[in-house]
Amino acid sequence: MSLRKKCITAVNKTFEKRRQQNAAEETRRKEEVLAKIPQMAALEQEMEANMSAFMTFAFEENEKGNEKKFRAFKEKAMLLQGQRIELLYEAGFPTDYLEKVYTCAACKDTGALDEGLCRCYKKEISLEYLRLSGLERILKKQSFSDFDLNYYAKEGRPSPYQKMEYLKKYCEQYVANFASGGKNLLFYGNPGCGKSFLSAAIGKALIEEGYFVLYSPVQEIVTAFEAERFGKGGDHITTADYTDCDLLILDDLGTEFQTSFSDTTLYNLINARLNRGKPFIISTNLNLEEIEEAYHERLVSRMIYESDAFGFPDVDIRLAKKKAKSQQ
Ligand SMILES: [Zn+2]
Repeated sequence: MSLRKKCITAVNKTFEKRRQQNAAEETRRKEEVLAKIPQMAALEQEMEANMSAFMTFAFEENEKGNEKKFRAFKEKAMLLQGQRIELLYEAGFPTDYLEKVYTCAACKDTGALDEGLCRCYKKEISLEYLRLSGLERILKKQSFSDFDLNYYAKEGRPSPYQKMEYLKKYCEQYVANFASGGKNLLFYGNPGCGKSFLSAAIGKALIEEGYFVLYSPVQEIVTAFEAERFGKGGDHITTADYTDCDLLILDDLGTEFQTSFSDTTLYNLINARLNRGKPFIISTNLNLEEIEEAYHERLVSRMIYESDAFGFPDVDIRLAKKKAKSQQ
């Protein structure tokens, strides 16, 4: 089963459980109220009888001239409702204590609205996507707004600070424009300069928009393809997920154990995504010349020349240390 389908199945189960829990809560409240207000049972019965009589009336005699009768049903319903509120209030219960219990009032916990999926359902899907995306290990609870530009030196023109400020804005724009076709990106620079973080922040923001994003070190991707080739595919991420997800973030290019199999795998994967118009982000500690040296020309041409490449400036170690000290 694809990861996407797994997510939907898991969320549907969550909703089923939610409806059951809320129904159980309704029953519990009813029993609690009846124990304290015995006359509520008769009142509830009367409300139900009135409602069922009205339904019969509306179904059988939905003709003109019955305005009066219609109004009588409505008035009685309001009167009974008023009595119920009074009884609840006098016994110290919230006045809506016997209403239906919903976690989401908009969709009544169905997850669906007339115009499509409810916001609450989309949110659960996002959370599930995020859990399976591999992004959590990088991001924990951080996002774009937590990205700290103060680690970058302000000297020089453009200064590392200015470069990163531009890059951060570029990434935010990337998310905003993703629906009209996301580009492929190549982030390169020394370890610890913010590449993984910014690419993961893009991934998280897109997941929140409902996109399915996967984040994996290149080595993990190669291992997954290898396992599947030898019939040992795990039940977690399948190679089809890497090919089909809305955005694939390949982290740490160049640290994989490079073999002809790993190169072919990367080439096929990137090629398949290019053919489908599905973007990727590559982050690497190698610079452009080193990438050209390390990989075959046809792979290089797809990684570098089909992407917007950004060289990340180093963080200023002095500033980083100073900041770490001030936070102690
Ligand atoms: Zn809802």
